[in-house]
Amino acid sequence: LMFGKARTCNIVTVPEHEPSECNIVILGANGSGKSALTVKFLTKRFISEYDPNLDTYSSEEVVDQQPVLVKVMDTADQDGPVNCERYLGWANAFIIVYSIDNRTSFEACQQYLEAVTLYSKGLQPEGPVILLGNKVDMERYRQVSKADGAALALRFGCLFFEVSACLDFLSVQQIFHEAVREVRRE
Ligand code: GDP
Ligand code: MG
Repeated sequence: LMFGKARTCNIVTVPEHEPSECNIVILGANGSGKSALTVKFLTKRFISEYDPNLDTYSSEEVVDQQPVLVKVMDTADQDGPVNCERYLGWANAFIIVYSIDNRTSFEACQQYLEAVTLYSKGLQPEGPVILLGNKVDMERYRQVSKADGAALALRFGCLFFEVSACLDFLSVQQIFHEAVREVRRE
């Protein structure tokens, strides 16, 4: 039994550090799955219909036990890297997507890689780039070998992964978390 004044107990949990932020821009040809990957990462679901007007999304993530606010800008350039100023200065990291079943989308990546590396040259930090082959579930229709993807990545000194926006969530999340890790390493 407690008598007298009620004990007041204020427990306020203040994070030691404000979560840092990581801005990630998704680039690549139309139809390569940029929006599907973004939506998958943010909702854990594959959604083929999405709001094309929504452009930048945020998600509070924990990467290697450290909180981080991940902001994802899902772009929709019609003809390669035009109006890049919009995102080049904003980005901490880039994910350049192609579809493994579409050679043209792979060829478009080179333009994005060139635009991004040209921009980052001389900047500190340079901003990590991930080349990402999407739609591995379409293996039967593959037009771009894994070796071709790896070779292009090597040429531009970036990371390379293959994934599918309609398979498991964790492998998609892993790509975004890898981008965060690379930004932290800089
Ligand atoms: P974006 O133009 O790069 O944003 O591409 P979308 O995300 O709109 O995807 C283009 C089309 O490819 C849509 O019909 C998606 O449903 C489909 N798609 C996206 N990712 C995948 C994937 O990993 N596998 C398959 N089979 N289809 C996908
Ligand atoms: Mg899109």
